[in-house]
Amino acid sequence: MQSKDLLQLAEQFGSPLYVYDADKIKSQYNRLTKAFSKVEKLRINYAMKALSNVAILQLLKEMGSGLDTVSIQEVQLGLHAGYDPEKIFYTPNGVSLEEIEEVHALGVQINIDNLSILEQFGAKHPNVPVCIRINPHVMAGGNANISVGHIDSKFGISVHQLPHLVRIVENTKMNIVGIHMHTGSDILDIEVFLYAAEILFDAAKNFKNLEFLDFGSGFKVPYKKDDIETDIEELGKKLTKRFNAFCTEYGKELTLIFEPGKFLVSEAGSFLVKVNVIKQTTSTVFAGVDSGFNHLIRPMLYGSQHHIDNISNPKGKERFYSVVGYICETDTFANNRRIPEIKEGDILSFRNAGAYCYSMASNYNSRYKPAEVLWMNGQGHLIRAHETFEDLLKNQIPLPVEATV
Ligand SMILES: *Cc1c(COP(=O)(O)O)cnc(C)c1O
Repeated sequence: MQSKDLLQLAEQFGSPLYVYDADKIKSQYNRLTKAFSKVEKLRINYAMKALSNVAILQLLKEMGSGLDTVSIQEVQLGLHAGYDPEKIFYTPNGVSLEEIEEVHALGVQINIDNLSILEQFGAKHPNVPVCIRINPHVMAGGNANISVGHIDSKFGISVHQLPHLVRIVENTKMNIVGIHMHTGSDILDIEVFLYAAEILFDAAKNFKNLEFLDFGSGFKVPYKKDDIETDIEELGKKLTKRFNAFCTEYGKELTLIFEPGKFLVSEAGSFLVKVNVIKQTTSTVFAGVDSGFNHLIRPMLYGSQHHIDNISNPKGKERFYSVVGYICETDTFANNRRIPEIKEGDILSFRNAGAYCYSMASNYNSRYKPAEVLWMNGQGHLIRAHETFEDLLKNQIPLPVEATV
């Protein structure tokens, strides 16, 4: 889709507005399946926490995707969107035994990531097929918030605890059908990923009834100009070869699972905001927009750089701006960034706004969450209306009159 389409959508639906390009989601999905086309049994489970709008779930379901979920509510949304329970995978962290049992009762594959719950679940339900999440202690990327495989991470069962794990499985006679790892976002180095995969293969040899190996995700997509991205084609070649060899060694054709979020939806998203005010100070020109970290928190939370286009004036002379929000707190989207000249009323477009943007939005400052539009076959489909005052009041219970006097 082109920036004139975005501009037209901003006019039609108002701002702030999230827009997702269905073609881009499809092409990313096809790119991934193509890279692994030599794996006999491949399964892609979309990590829906990246972008959980039901229309997006439906779109991915049409393409043949399964779902990766991290809460019972995500499972319920997936079922609501029409996914079969067998196509849903549940990888929680730190949730209660009760929630895991409830999800299992819905017919969804569960993945357990700590020894305590594994032992309790195994003792109560020895016949249930269970996947276990291993922490290979491999550092992917550089940001501690998004690297979940390293030594101090709360995720997964340490690979060093494998003897203990195996003993629990033997004692309870549980049915382990899968091994999982997810080393976190931003895999820059394929060799690091392959190294972690070796640890998974080694762990897998301890279990005789496996049906699948789940390699998680962490595929990096470009955010800035000249950003490196995970070379999916190269990873496909190398991991396929290694995976197929492992299956031969194991004596069974296993399913290879990936659970990408960012890779599938990040680049498909644009976030459109309107410039409310240009404010020149002694050192900086601020462009203040009709949004804030209540709608897009990644720059403030992770220091993420989202490229910003001025789609109202794409050919304008470039100047330096700090793009900031309207929240009563520091909410800087971009610092000292070169952007084509901005006037009040211009529409700016943030790139890479598909993953972890709307899904992390809040009502901070009592602002409404924005609308979402899916661009499909040259047309914008409203897939979530923007909120209204009723949404802010929903579930709030005012004190009874007599209590206020
Ligand atoms: C978040 C998450 C993913 C998706 O990660 P991306 O970096 O968005 O691809 C996959 N698996 C699990 C278990 C996750 O928590």
